[in-house]
Parts: sequence; structure tokens; C-alpha cells
Amino acid sequence: MKRDVIIIGGGVVGLMTAYSLQKAGRSVTVIDETDISDNTSFGNAGLLSAFDKTPLSNPGVVLDTLKLMIKGESPVNIHPKLDYKLFRWLFKFVQSANEDRLKRTLALFEKYGQITIDRYKQMQIEDGLDFDFHHDGMLSVFTEEKSYEKKLAKYNFVDNDRFEIFDNSKIKEYLPLGNEKIKGAILFKRNAHFDPKRVMLEMKNYLSKNGVEFILNERISNIKFKDKKVASISSALNTYEAETYVLSTGYQTLLADIRKKELMMTPAKGYSITFTMPKELEPKTSTLFADLFIVMTPRRNDVRITSKLELGSTDPRVIKEQIESIKENFKKYTIPFEMEDIVEWSGFRPLTPNDMPLIGRDEEYKNLIYGMGLGWLGMTFAPSVGEILKDLIIKDSENKNNDDILLFSGFYQG
Ligand SMILES: Cc1cc2nc3c(=O)[nH]c(=O)nc-3n(C[C@H](O)[C@H](O)[C@H](O)COP(=O)(O)OP(=O)(O)OC[C@H]3O[C@@H](n4cnc5c(N)ncnc54)[C@H](O)[C@@H]3O)c2cc1C
Repeated sequence: MKRDVIIIGGGVVGLMTAYSLQKAGRSVTVIDETDISDNTSFGNAGLLSAFDKTPLSNPGVVLDTLKLMIKGESPVNIHPKLDYKLFRWLFKFVQSANEDRLKRTLALFEKYGQITIDRYKQMQIEDGLDFDFHHDGMLSVFTEEKSYEKKLAKYNFVDNDRFEIFDNSKIKEYLPLGNEKIKGAILFKRNAHFDPKRVMLEMKNYLSKNGVEFILNERISNIKFKDKKVASISSALNTYEAETYVLSTGYQTLLADIRKKELMMTPAKGYSITFTMPKELEPKTSTLFADLFIVMTPRRNDVRITSKLELGSTDPRVIKEQIESIKENFKKYTIPFEMEDIVEWSGFRPLTPNDMPLIGRDEEYKNLIYGMGLGWLGMTFAPSVGEILKDLIIKDSENKNNDDILLFSGFYQG
């Protein structure tokens, strides 16, 4: 039996692409090696933060990271077995961290971030999905005087719809657990947050009910090519054929490797700690401790903090020292409080060196589409990417005829 579209990988990118295709009347199958209950799309911070947030590759990033390393607060770890691929990635990362690129990246973030927020809102209204979604801004908190001053110099104008610089009483109202070491805070109002696990479970349920086929606990380990097309994919158990194949396997590149397509992408391991705490101390909205690379997100029944950017590791275990180091850095800037019912988690961001996703049609095998490399902003851009890939598929168009691919895809950005 030949299927219509097979999506390999049921993370947020796979499910959002399935959603857009299903709405467009296509018949979709999602295949995943797990039961889709705990991939990277589940345990992240849940920020939809495309607005007024500095990209990862930004001018000054290397110096700032080194300073934090000296202070013992750096979120970044690079594993000692630096291989050639990671070395190339790091080189490209440093090369991309320049002022011209920054402006372009921020403009693209805003364009595709807005499409995403509108889409999440529409899904909740039209499809009755409950994402625990809050469009009430992201509070950027500064623990270093210099970086706060730098930020203030950038926001030395008034735009009440966009941001608000907080005085001490407003900081206390929004972040009651913050201590006196906090230097300042700015609320960036256009950002939003939700509960990513809820999003994933609601989506999976919605798609199943609306005819999307799920084949779970089957790892696709091979691809066969014929006449410049993907002819079939197979697991240890079965072979599947389809008109179109979408690759959305997160940080894993096995299938791209078989195709001999080098994806400029590296796994960047991160951690989350989810816990309950006294209600009156919970932050009022999602909060980024900008100098520490720690995010705190209030949720319906608990709170989550996330951090760390470990390059060169694919070890899925939760490493105790990393969890302790997050807690230690975090507690320097909060009043004492008890974390209870703690759940610790780790996952891998599929990180590209310039914050651009690797999306589009394979140049040689035209029925193979990539939905990869969404890095640290997969929740923020997946609905936009789903729409872009859907357009590519239903219009049967080439990359060169799709403006969104040419603008946003890392395949077309030097
Ligand atoms: C600590 C942390 C915090 C983060 N915070 C945020 C945030 O606040 N906001 C934001 O926008 N983003 C955030 N992110 C990033 C976001 O989580 C990712 O970008 C996103 O989840 C990636 O989604 P994905 O669909 O590409 O991959 P995944 O969620 O990893 O899904 C890939 C799926 O492919 C399957 N798969 C892989 N290979 C195969 C195969 N061969 N056969 C079958 N199935 C396969 C896997 O089982 C998996 O289910 C964060 C990430 C981390 C780690």
C-alpha cells in the first residue's frame, strides 16, 4: 500500500506539519521510534519568544560566555572529544555572530514568530485545544549591571505595546522570589508561553481523532532511492512507501546521513527541573534570567526552570552535577524556598550555527522534505514551519519558488 505523506519523527515539528497537511485534506502517517510521550518537545521551557530576544549567535556571545565561565555561571559546556563536525559547527557559529546577521535574524524571528502565535491561538479557538497558553509577555531579568545597562541603551525609547522597563516594586510583583542581587528587568510584552507537554498530548490526540495514522515504537533505519526519488523507508519490521516523505527527526541525523546529506546541526543538551513551590512566590509570567541562560515558566500546577547548553554529548541521562549547577546558579538570585515534587529531565536541541532551521526539499530526491534544525526555538517556530512545508508539498513547488524557504531556511544562508 502506497501512502500519501509519511512524516518520520513525531516531535513538535512533525505534529505541526501533520496538522497543516491534514487541514489541507492530505492523508498523513506519522512514524516515531517512541510512543511520543517524552521527546525534546515535551520537557522544554515552553516559551514562544520570537520578539526582542537576542539570537544565540549574536555579536559578543563568545566574550560573554567566557566571562560567565570564569564566574562559574556559564550554561555552556563543550565536551572534550571535539570532533571535526562540531569544530566546523563552532567555526560557523562564531562566523555568524555579527551585527548584519543579527538584524536579519531578528526580522525573521518576528515574521515567523507572529505567524506561530496566531496559529496557536486559532488552534485553541477553532479546534478546542487547551495549551495552557498565556500571551502575557516574557520578563527579562538581568543579574549583571553591564548587560542591563547595555539593554537599557537599546530600549531608550517608549513603545508601551512592546516593552516596559520595571522599577523595583514591579519586579517584586512579577518575580516575588527574586533577591536584591537582581539589577533590573524588562517585560517584553509580545512574547507568550504555554505547557509544551500539554501541547504535544493535545496535538497527538487531535490528529489521531482526525484521521492521522500513527505508527509508534518503530525506528526507521533505512531509505531506498530509485529514479531520483525516495522509493521506500524501512524499520527492522516493515517497509513503507509514500508519495512524499518528511524528515523531522529532531537532533538525530541517521536518515540524512544515509542520504549523504550533511546537516549543519549539532545536538545541544539542555535540562529542565519541574517542581511545585509556594504559590505566592511563583513568577507572574515566563522569566528569562538573561545573564544565566535560565528560564522559569509558571504552569497550571507547577513551575519549570530550564538551562544548559552542552555541545558534543548525546548521552540521554540526566547528569546530577548539571542539575545541581542549575539550582546553585539560580539560588544565588532568589530568596530561599523549597522545591517539592521535583521532576528532572534532559533533551537535545537540534541546533544550527545561525539560528535558522534546515527546511525544504532535497535538491536531488524531490519527494524528500526536511523539517530539521529548529534548535532552541522549536516550539516558537514549528507551526510556521508546518505551514511552509505544507505549502511546498501541496503546491508541489521547488525550493527556489518558495519565498519562505528562501528567506528562512538555513539551506540558503551562506
Ligand atoms: C532545555 C530546553 C529548553 C527549551 N526551551 C524552549 C523554549 O522555551 N521555546 C522553544 O521554542 N523551544 C525550546 N526548546 C527547543 C525545542 O524543545 C526544540 O526545538 C523542539 O522540541 C524540537 O522539535 P523536533 O520536532 O525537531 O524534535 P523532537 O521533539 O526531538 O522530535 C523528534 C522525534 O523524532 C523521532 N525520531 C528520531 N529519529 C527517528 C527514526 N530514525 N525513526 C523514527 N523516529 C525517529 C524521535 O523519537 C522524536 O520523537 C528547548 C529545548 C531544550 C532542550
